[in-house]
Amino acid sequence: SLSLRDVHLAFGRHQVLRGVDLDVASGGTACVIGPSGSGKSTLLRTVNRLLEPDRGDVLLDGRSVLRDDPDALRQRIGMVFQQFNLFPHMSVLRNLTLPLRRIRKLDEDEAVAQARAELDRVGLAAKADARPAHLSGGQQQRVAIARALAMQPQVMLFDEATSALDPELVKGVLALMAELSTQGMTMVVVTHEMGFARQVADTVAFMDAGVVLEAGDPAAVFESPQHPRLRRFLSQVL
Ligand code: ATP
Ligand code: MG
Repeated sequence: SLSLRDVHLAFGRHQVLRGVDLDVASGGTACVIGPSGSGKSTLLRTVNRLLEPDRGDVLLDGRSVLRDDPDALRQRIGMVFQQFNLFPHMSVLRNLTLPLRRIRKLDEDEAVAQARAELDRVGLAAKADARPAHLSGGQQQRVAIARALAMQPQVMLFDEATSALDPELVKGVLALMAELSTQGMTMVVVTHEMGFARQVADTVAFMDAGVVLEAGDPAAVFESPQHPRLRRFLSQVL
């Protein structure tokens, strides 16, 4: 399980997280929704320690991650961004094998076998030798997901993974994320895709001004929102 407990974080005098609490069961999927600037990306970044909270705790299976080595932690927590961040000058296969060799210290044969298995899983085995630029945005994002999965993480974080994609490419990436969720990956998904949140999430958390204002199962959050701020947000996005 993954839990955030009273997480606070400021950039200088700008208090961005003001006591975030969030719980994701092992194998569960939490979708985080909320207005621009509410702190969603900052929240994800504190989970894998790209940022350090000023106060509060992040617990993985009941243990604080704040004492772990950040690099070791990032092997256990994969992250996928809006911009795919693939290495443009390397083949798709090499994008996957490089971190497996450098970080997981696999030998070349093991790395290639693992990378090919992950590419197969996301339906891109045939693209192993292509450069990222020769793939569609949706395919590039599936490669980025495969690269994260190749590290065999315990948790996957997605920060608006489909926001940079042409509309017709969104579906394929969401389908892959839904499949991962079904297969029991523990996931935190920041998304504007309310249909995905409604169908896939176990928990939907609404963030506003640096706190989770309301969280619950999708039916409760979407059909009987309690907080006026959430009602207003939903009336704008649905
Ligand atoms: P969006 O939906 O637009 O992606 P968000 O909910 O992800 O928004 P964050 O990116 O977490 O919002 O940003 C929250 C606030 O923190 C914003 O006011 C932003 O300007 C500020 N912020 C984010 N990163 C930094 C930084 N590195 N330095 C200073 N301020 C930052
Ligand atoms: Mg963001």
